[in-house]
Amino acid sequence: MTIHSMETEGLHHSILRIYGVVQGVGFRPFIYRLATALGLRGMVLNKGAFVEVEIIGTSDEIATFISRMSEELPPLARIDKIERTEGEGGSSIDLNTFRIIESQVHANQGANIPPDIATCKACLEELFSDKDRRFNYPFLNCVDCGPRFTVIKNLPYDRSETSLACFPMCNDCGLEYENPADRRFHAEPTACPRCGPALWFEKGGNPELQQIQSKAFKNDSSEDELTRAVLAIRSGSIIAVKGLGGFQLICDATNDDTVKRLRERKGREAKPFALMVSDLEAAQDICDISPRESELLTCSARPIVLLNKKSNQDWISNQVAPTTNTLGVMLPYTPLHHLLLRKTKLPLVVTSGNVSEEPIAAGNREALARLKTIADGFLLNNRDIVSRYDDTVCSIVAEKPMVVRRARGFAPQAVQLPYRAKLPMLAVGGHLKNTFCLVHDDKAYLSQHIGDLESIESIHFFTETLKDYIRLFKIHPRLIALDMHPDYGSSRVVSNWLTRKETSPFSVDLIEKVIPVQHHFAHVVSCMAENHIDDTVIGVAFDGTGYGTDGNIWGGEFLLCTLANFTRVAALKPVKMPGGTSSIKEPWRMALGFLVHVENSAGTQRVLQRLVERFGEKSVSDVTSVANSSISPTTTSCGRLFDAVACLLGICDINQYEGHAAVLLQREAELFRNSQELPASRRRGSEYSLTLKRKEPGASTAPWQPQPFLDIDTTELISDVLRDLAEGKSTGEISTRFHDWTATMILEVCKEIRDRQNLNTVCLSGGVFQNRLLLEMSILQLRDAGFKVYWNSQVPINDGGLSLGQAVAALSQLGMLEPQG
Ligand SMILES: [Zn+2]
Ligand SMILES: [Zn+2]
Repeated sequence: MTIHSMETEGLHHSILRIYGVVQGVGFRPFIYRLATALGLRGMVLNKGAFVEVEIIGTSDEIATFISRMSEELPPLARIDKIERTEGEGGSSIDLNTFRIIESQVHANQGANIPPDIATCKACLEELFSDKDRRFNYPFLNCVDCGPRFTVIKNLPYDRSETSLACFPMCNDCGLEYENPADRRFHAEPTACPRCGPALWFEKGGNPELQQIQSKAFKNDSSEDELTRAVLAIRSGSIIAVKGLGGFQLICDATNDDTVKRLRERKGREAKPFALMVSDLEAAQDICDISPRESELLTCSARPIVLLNKKSNQDWISNQVAPTTNTLGVMLPYTPLHHLLLRKTKLPLVVTSGNVSEEPIAAGNREALARLKTIADGFLLNNRDIVSRYDDTVCSIVAEKPMVVRRARGFAPQAVQLPYRAKLPMLAVGGHLKNTFCLVHDDKAYLSQHIGDLESIESIHFFTETLKDYIRLFKIHPRLIALDMHPDYGSSRVVSNWLTRKETSPFSVDLIEKVIPVQHHFAHVVSCMAENHIDDTVIGVAFDGTGYGTDGNIWGGEFLLCTLANFTRVAALKPVKMPGGTSSIKEPWRMALGFLVHVENSAGTQRVLQRLVERFGEKSVSDVTSVANSSISPTTTSCGRLFDAVACLLGICDINQYEGHAAVLLQREAELFRNSQELPASRRRGSEYSLTLKRKEPGASTAPWQPQPFLDIDTTELISDVLRDLAEGKSTGEISTRFHDWTATMILEVCKEIRDRQNLNTVCLSGGVFQNRLLLEMSILQLRDAGFKVYWNSQVPINDGGLSLGQAVAALSQLGMLEPQG
């Protein structure tokens, strides 16, 4: 067709570039069906960063096409932007039909990789229909569901670039794949029992576990592979299952002995395990679930959702979550999970296949080696996992979903920024709960949860994942942001790369600058960035530990923040931290650190007596004298305040996991509130004394000023707690009063800052706010007082969100952010 004839027919040739989540979500087949239904000619093509549609029709027809495209979008697709240009005639393509063209390899910068998607309803029906050719097939999927990020090696998204490439499609699968009317039309990871991956079951080889194994696997010889695994689980074995993003350890959640054994073998004493149940109804049997929570549970990302346990449920073993009144619950998201739940007829513990705090195992051989002391058996398969990740953990806070651990179903989707970076940036995050962040243009690609950078395996996972992201998104960083702490694993890795260039996952020669960013400032900026705020805010950064600009350990900070700079305006008064880092693991040391600041009382004596009974006279007096000496470091950490109060109340002297003491304190308060029938976050005001000590502001306009003008003195608070303790008040009541004090303190300090600085926006961030009770109380009280309140929800409020804040703060400091235009 020539331009001439098009003009005479009143036809236009439009080229649409469509940006957003448009790959791997059935977008091209959708465009094909829509264009064909409207009788339009042209083509659709995947170009990596966008999908391009060339279309020929009258201007009315094209307008209809565009509006229906937006209205009838497939459930998982999202359009961020459409660029429309009018095409030149004489295009080389055949414009007599509408076609899907093979992908063109092209620059991938700015591309969106779809996350993995839970099994859809249509696939589920096939899975359980004995007439279907995919009956009981654990790897079925379609354009609306199935693996994506975990199988994609390169963009553009095509079967040849996935780990399904080594499974040539059979005739039937090929016909479905080619048929525009089929829901597997261009479903890249499609598979069936004849041509796709298969699973098999192996007993674990560890002689110590043999006794259990011989019992569990007695009569299994005639059963199929899946049934063998099912029988093993039903008879109390722990099975390592190769899942979507890595291995999972799975066992019967109703069996105390089994769950206890899993704790022992995994080296995980108290930290809660997640639970998988067959459907929403089953979840409702064990937890109280609000409408927002059920939406989150059933969404296509299928995260673990933290839910309140029903007080009368006795079906789930207490060993699953011994320290909390919540349960982390998820619904099945792969056909294999559906099959396991249906066939075992049990709620299952499903936890990452690793030794505590190490990264999740992903390869068959790796799992057989690393999990041999944990698993009694292995349910393996031959579909390779390209990118590994754990399950995502979410909760609902103030009616809004909040991501606590961001991984499956969310990563590597970009966080959309309201500004553009002039140069590509890599931020390497913190030390615990690490994530990294690559920023290109207006997109921040936050990695999945990497974990604590304490082991070689974690550092290796960090490096390997960064390599994956650089390859997939083709972002070559020119700037690096990191934490100011000299000993963070993430910072050490960067300095290694800079000196030993050949080990670096990116080209070191391209790096122009390395920018250290203060920890709590990065927390606040992460909140500003995801909420699209760019003027000055009051940042409340409460966490366990972060390196301050004065070399001290901070963690109870009120900062005036712009994206580029901060001033520290208020903080908890520094207290002694006897033994330095050992007091992070051992709240009883922290309690003694606080006790040296308060006057002796009946309450003090009671606590000291208990600690002497538990740790011995000598230890207690040694720690006390360290706390009294000038060699003891000090801290303004709010996390340590929670630790100390938990120890004073006698509910936690030693942390079994990060945040353990705070979790117990929160539970005490929530149980007390429930018993008093108080709504969870009702405003109460504080019965404990709040002492704010004002100091002369000095040069308060200078950025990076380390000295706050307002000290929040906790001496009287601790005395009040000790008095209540001596009077025999319950731990629940004291814990409730302590939460009230903390929320009121946040409110009063923010009011004081508002009066002085004329600011009305508050950003809450930092690991202490994982305490849902405290966060909700703070939000409600601040809102009641007329503040605009923001907190993290898309990225973790704990150190998992740091890398986003580091990236944006460093870019802003360098003048490398420009408004969207
Ligand atoms: Zn499906
Ligand atoms: Zn097939």
